[in-house]
Amino acid sequence: MKLLKSFLWGLLVSQTVGLAVDANDLEYWDFDVRQNRVEIVTEEGVRPKASMIANPTRLIIDLPGVNLGKPSISQDKISGYVKEVRLGQFNPYTTRIVVELGEQYSMRPWEVKVRSLANNRWYVQLSDFQPHSVYSLPPEEAPVAIIVPLPKPSSPSPSPSPGGRGRYTVVIDPGHGGRDPGAIGLGGLQEKRVVLSISAEVAKILRQRGFNVVMTRSGDSFISLRGRVQKAENSNANIFVSIHANAVGGNKTQVNGMETFYFSSGYRLALSIHRNIVREVTIARNRGVKKARFYVLRKTSMPAALVEVGFVTGRVDNRNLNSASYRKKMAEAIADGITEYLR
Ligand SMILES: [Zn+2]
Repeated sequence: MKLLKSFLWGLLVSQTVGLAVDANDLEYWDFDVRQNRVEIVTEEGVRPKASMIANPTRLIIDLPGVNLGKPSISQDKISGYVKEVRLGQFNPYTTRIVVELGEQYSMRPWEVKVRSLANNRWYVQLSDFQPHSVYSLPPEEAPVAIIVPLPKPSSPSPSPSPGGRGRYTVVIDPGHGGRDPGAIGLGGLQEKRVVLSISAEVAKILRQRGFNVVMTRSGDSFISLRGRVQKAENSNANIFVSIHANAVGGNKTQVNGMETFYFSSGYRLALSIHRNIVREVTIARNRGVKKARFYVLRKTSMPAALVEVGFVTGRVDNRNLNSASYRKKMAEAIADGITEYLR
């Protein structure tokens, strides 16, 4: 019986991993109005294709091999020039982003630049907008060039001295504590305990690497959200990382996975942490990097990210979060993400 059970667990876990590998995910996308560009973060190896089409004038960005995994999204009236940005599943193998310009505007396709900044990070830089009378597109699709920088020669990069890292102060914020247990999951597993264990390990690793670390709580004590932010501000922190565990009601034990949040300046930090978890803790389901108006993300003045390490109510996550070795692995991945960001 026990053997059968662990066999089924294995099956469940390997299936989850298999799914994540087969279809690439779109980790993040956004239209940056100020910079006038579309930013896309995919998994590694995805190569966008871009073209422009007339009537109405629109820029099409296809992401081959990317499964959106959710219904289409659209944002309209983005700016005076951009009427709408849509994101949808064009066919089973391709996710498509469409940037539709306002009726009276056009762009010269050869001035639109698709740039790769890293293996998985792309910018589609729109050009200056032209009134239609100045430039109108040909009736057929006009391709847009993709600019991929030449790979850098691989030489072992010198690692920064631990002395240099001492300049950085990292605030680690374990969620909840004291009279606030946070979420309570299967078997009575408490969020406050799970996240303190992971946070303490993150702090230990970062200190070993030479960083200056401040924890908003290092024991089972209550601290308000405002108190957490104040602590970060008072310590002149360079970054703020909050660690939480998720929960969902209604006995939905099938809901599992980790996700990372940012609000504004913490995007790159969130992405760096998230990617390291995805890479190192492969059995954790990837729910993506998301923007959220959490108090600690909005009120901190330094780049801030919030990691939800998993669901205490999820059958798979609950089992993992109960394991000290899993929590340690999660902590290492978070510390690696922070280290990578501060490099
Ligand atoms: Zn929480």
